Order: sequence, then structure tokens, then C-alpha cells
Amino acid sequence: MDNYTIEELNEHLKQYDYFVMDEKVFYINQDFFENIEEKNLFLLKNAEEDKNLRKIEEAAVFFTNAGIKRLDKLIAIGGGATTDFTGYLASVLLRGIDWICVPTTVLGLVDASVGGKTAVNLENGKNLVGTFHSPVERIVCLEFLSTLPDSEQVSGFCEVLKYAFLDKTIYQKIMDGFDNLELFNMCHDYKSQLVEKDMKDLGIRRILNLGHTIGHAIEKSVDVSHGEAVAMGMEIKLRLFKPELIDTFNVLKEKLRIEFPLPQSISKERFEELIVKDKKRVDDDLDFILIKDIGDIEISKIKPQELFDKIYKDSVYGNIFQ
Ligand code: NAD
Ligand code: ZN
Repeated sequence: MDNYTIEELNEHLKQYDYFVMDEKVFYINQDFFENIEEKNLFLLKNAEEDKNLRKIEEAAVFFTNAGIKRLDKLIAIGGGATTDFTGYLASVLLRGIDWICVPTTVLGLVDASVGGKTAVNLENGKNLVGTFHSPVERIVCLEFLSTLPDSEQVSGFCEVLKYAFLDKTIYQKIMDGFDNLELFNMCHDYKSQLVEKDMKDLGIRRILNLGHTIGHAIEKSVDVSHGEAVAMGMEIKLRLFKPELIDTFNVLKEKLRIEFPLPQSISKERFEELIVKDKKRVDDDLDFILIKDIGDIEISKIKPQELFDKIYKDSVYGNIFQ
């Protein structure tokens, strides 16, 4: 996929009328987007908070008032929250219209904009309402990343770290030296081919959840980004089941410039509750994605109690869970 400059992107988008944009991205790049009419631009103030059905209704009223028709396209410019929101809106507005995705975060580029899942959050959980509705075009413009806060960069690169364990070619590229466009495109292509095999996430696509069961529970327990929590999930897994790969994990982190402190403490009670939340009993097995080697991943099962016992005995993470 080519890398557009913001000027080229702006030129390309002149043929379209209707936009949903992350407000920060809009204000930072306002000069470039001056040709977009206010009545056709729906801004998300805090995209993750706005990713809900009330905002969807508001946006649907906004665009129908603006005169959007069945054959128009909706353009999303922002991070994963904005593209998830816009994809969902496009899938239901006027019974479904086309949309174009312009991701502006690392996580958006390597994950959220790939695979056709759209979603909004409900009060009782994230991404509980959604559709499969792929954008008709996805535009890469890495210039946007220059204003992304460091913490968001790190969070996105943690998902890249995940791909390095899933795919040998991505691993090798990182070890040999990479440029971002090439690396992000490799992650995109890797996820796309998995999704082609398993659109509905019932089989092989689930390996993309590597580090996510433990990661989500950490993310909800302490104040860390999604990516950092997933990286911790992967590290815990390696420490418990494949300690020989810990050095590789650390080298990859360094090459991807991933640095973050571990949380001081995580409540065992909350962590366990989050891990077993969807299970009726603690002794129901969890799906567990195991790293056997770089590029060699196995979907297996583990009893939650067995997992907790192992984590709490670990010489690093054991001290964090209290
Ligand atoms: P995000 O969209 O919330 O963006 C993170 C922050 O960065 C926001 O504060 C945003 O305003 C800011 N931002 C975005 N681009 C910027 C830029 N270029 N410069 C400065 N600031 C910028 O979060 P995200 O990490 O991109 O994505 C997370 C979302 O993606 C979640 O809602 C998650 O559910 C979703 N997601 C979806 C999929 C999928 O398959 N559809 C996969 C993974 C994640
Ligand atoms: Zn993730």
C-alpha cells in the first residue's frame, strides 16, 4: 500500500463529501481540510467515549440532513475508535453505504482498520454491537503519526510485537531493520490473509488474540494502554510456558522502541473475576493461545486456577498480583 502525503490525501478526498473525523486529528490538520464543508463533517470529540449508539443516531440524523444518498461514501479519518464507529454507521445508514478508512494511529494501521469488523460500545461492555463491513478503500498516510502521543505509539507497536510472534517474516524484518510503512503493510497483509480464511473469528483468526485474555483483564484492572496490557499478557505467557523466548521478546521490544513500566500492583481478586467473567464456573477451561516458537502458535485450553497459580508463583509478575 502506498503512503500518501496529507496534501495528496486531501486532493484524493476532494471527490467525496461526507466525513467523520477524530476531532484532535481535524484540529491539528485543519489547514489541509479547509475545503470540507462544516455541514458535512461529523467530529468525534473523544472517539472512544463517542463510540456508542446514541452518537450513531446523532450522526445518522446529521448526515441524512446533509443530504447523503445511497451511493455516497463516508470517509473516516482517525484512530481505531473513529474507524470502528464510522464503519458501523456506514453499515446501517440507508441500509448500508460504502466507506473509506484513513487510519491515523499505529493501532489503527496494523489492527483496527484490517478485517472488516465494525463496532460500538454498550454501557455493559466494549464492542458489543457491530457488523462485518469492510471499507472499499483504505488509505495509508503516515504523516499523521508525527502528532500521535508517545503512549499511543507504544500501544500500537505492542500489537506489532504480537505479529512478530505470530509470523516469522515479520519477526525477521524487525530483526533486520525496517521502515514503518513496510512493517505496517506486512502486519496488514498478515491479518488480512488470516481474516480471509476465517472472517467470523471462529477458527484460526483467534490466534490474533494472543496475549489478549490476560491483557484485557490487566487493562481493566490498572491504568495501562491496551497495547501495553497485551504485551504484558504475552510476557506472562512466555515466562510461564516458554522462558527461552524471553530474550527474544526483550530484543523485539527494544527494536520496536517499546518501553513502559510494569504496574506496581494488580488486585488478584479483580483479575480473576475478569478472566472468568464469561465462564460460569472457575473450573471451566479458558481458550489459551500458546507460543511454541516464533510463527508456531497453538490454540489450547487451560484451567483458570492453574493459570492463576502459575502467574502468582512467577518471580516477576508474582509480586505484582496482590
Ligand atoms: P483511538 O481511536 O481512541 O485513538 C487514540 C487517541 O489518539 C485518541 O485520543 C485520538 O484522539 C488520538 N489520535 C488519533 N490519531 C491521532 C494523531 N494522528 N495525532 C494525535 N492524536 C491522535 O484509539 P486506537 O488505539 O487507534 O484504537 C482503539 C480502538 O480500536 C478501540 O475502540 C478498539 O475497540 C478498536 N479496535 C478495533 C479493531 C477491529 O478489528 N475493528 C481491532 C482493534 C481495535
Ligand atoms: Zn489488541
